[in-house]
Amino acid sequence: MGTMENTIFHKILAKEVPADIVHEDDEVLVFKDIHPKTKTHLLFVPKQFVASVADATGDAEHLPGMLILKAQQFAKEQGIDGYKLLFNVGKNGGQEVPYLHLHFMSEQKLKN
Ligand code: AMP
Repeated sequence: MGTMENTIFHKILAKEVPADIVHEDDEVLVFKDIHPKTKTHLLFVPKQFVASVADATGDAEHLPGMLILKAQQFAKEQGIDGYKLLFNVGKNGGQEVPYLHLHFMSEQKLKN
């Protein structure tokens, strides 16, 4: 899985494929999930590539924690106080896109 370096999320990060982007900074891109499971369903994707939580070792070990903190800050900015955060890890864990991402799901709406 660590060698899959041409996923749909690589293309979204490179702006080769459009996405409904709600936040971007030096470390992360946040966009709406194309098949939302909740009223607000976002994906937090790090700009540094790693395939999954299982591969987040060495110079990538901070990435899962960083994504959680970005979600925490984003929720606060949006006034969202109830949400679920989910990492699917590996094919057997239901991960379809082999590029690390954090699902942010809430029944509360974004401000805009
Ligand atoms: P996972 O099963 O954890 O790998 O989740 C992958 C997620 O990416 C799914 O919820 C998909 O609906 C979502 N997804 C796949 N392609 C796109 C896309 N082009 N734009 C936005 N979300 C996508």
